[in-house]
Amino acid sequence: MNADVIVIGAGLAGLACALALRDRGLEPLVIEASDGVGGRVRTDHREGFLLDRGFQVLQTWYPAARETLDYARLDLRPFYPGALVRIEGRLHRVSDIWRRPDRLPEMLFSPVGTLADKIRLLKLRQRCLRGDLQALYQRPETTALAYLQALGFSPRIIERFFKPFFSGVFFEPDLAVSSRTFEFVFRAFALGDTALPARGMGEIPAQLAARLPPHAIRLGARAERIERASVVLQSGERLKARAVVIATESSETARLLQQPRSEPLPHRGTSCFYFSAHHAPVGGGYLLLNGEGRGRINSLLFPSNLSPYYAPPGRSLISVNVHGADENPDTLETRIRSELRPWLGEQVRAWTRLAVYRLPHALPSQRPPVPYPGSQELRRADGLWSCGEYQGAPSIQWALHSGQRAGCEVANALQAAPLDRAQDNRHPAH
Ligand SMILES: Cc1cc2nc3c(=O)[nH]c(=O)nc-3n(C[C@H](O)[C@H](O)[C@H](O)COP(=O)(O)OP(=O)(O)OC[C@H]3O[C@@H](n4cnc5c(N)ncnc54)[C@H](O)[C@@H]3O)c2cc1C
Repeated sequence: MNADVIVIGAGLAGLACALALRDRGLEPLVIEASDGVGGRVRTDHREGFLLDRGFQVLQTWYPAARETLDYARLDLRPFYPGALVRIEGRLHRVSDIWRRPDRLPEMLFSPVGTLADKIRLLKLRQRCLRGDLQALYQRPETTALAYLQALGFSPRIIERFFKPFFSGVFFEPDLAVSSRTFEFVFRAFALGDTALPARGMGEIPAQLAARLPPHAIRLGARAERIERASVVLQSGERLKARAVVIATESSETARLLQQPRSEPLPHRGTSCFYFSAHHAPVGGGYLLLNGEGRGRINSLLFPSNLSPYYAPPGRSLISVNVHGADENPDTLETRIRSELRPWLGEQVRAWTRLAVYRLPHALPSQRPPVPYPGSQELRRADGLWSCGEYQGAPSIQWALHSGQRAGCEVANALQAAPLDRAQDNRHPAH
């Protein structure tokens, strides 16, 4: 096939880019090193269970996701808007009272924070929803922790709710992430559902890939280097096109751009254990959080409570998530089981381990500074663009958005330039 544009990487950014190119009448070829599409958003099928590669969710408010995805076909299953937080030996429900006003009395008396904290939540919500996204990312920036402290939140609610909840999002235990990133994520939780596709997170990239013709995606094809008008694969094969878009993880993007070796980007890791049991220990679509301020566990959830496709008949799927990915999984499993016994009793002994996903490079650190991800320069040289994870702003929203943006920019550039000139102009990637 003669492709107009080679897109390196079939994660969400690469797929969104390819779709934007096709929408503009161009033929993309997506080359993907691994054996499937999705990048960090994939689901394994094992013994009748659906195992997402690490705990992740779709926030339905994401503007780029609403634009790109067919939510009805994803058959989204929302979580309870809030969480159950374990504090001093008991589980306490925290609810988003804008979505569940009936829980207001329970929230007011919850030990998760003081009464004043609950009133401050109103102010926090107002701040996070103010202005458009560009304005949000231009506000004065500090860490999320300093931001919450400046708003007057008590150490109690910070330790019992904000840290466990948001450290599960950022894989950063101390709320050291940018206050802008925090506001962005808070807005996403406030304005939409947090959901799983009924048949696993992998349905998201699968849906995008299905809109491309089969010949537009080549799996098992690793780009080794980019040379003038072509991409050289690890196999030695050379692919030519009018433009190249790199849509890989940031470290691989730097390698392909031949950027001088610098300190590797700091990343945050996570480990996700999957267990099977006869019954989920808690019903409903709850996320269980560790608000005790000690222990390795961050969160627990039961995907098969949300969608029966996640487990075979008669079984339940349990996901236990911890920060970091350094510890030996067997040692960690023993610790997890002993931490969980006071929570859930002896039933924990009967759980069968299905899999553990150790993801040391799950997300780049989201510490300040985090500029507006929607205006970063994507063009790297004549005929060469990059998209995907913006430094400090990894998410489904920004992966899709950057992919779409790169696709539009490339199409505009190619359609403005006559074919010959576009080819002559190409330089090595630096
Ligand atoms: C455990 C976990 C939980 C997360 N939870 C959430 C969440 O709840 N909400 C949210 O919004 N975001 C979440 N994220 C972040 C989100 O998944 C990512 O930011 C997003 O998927 C990144 O997409 P991408 O296309 O930019 O990159 P990637 O998904 O990393 O895709 C890059 C692709 O490039 C391929 N590739 C690399 N090198 C080459 C090469 N040389 N040649 C060919 N192909 C190559 C890779 O194999 C990969 O498929 C989570 C991420 C993880 C890991």
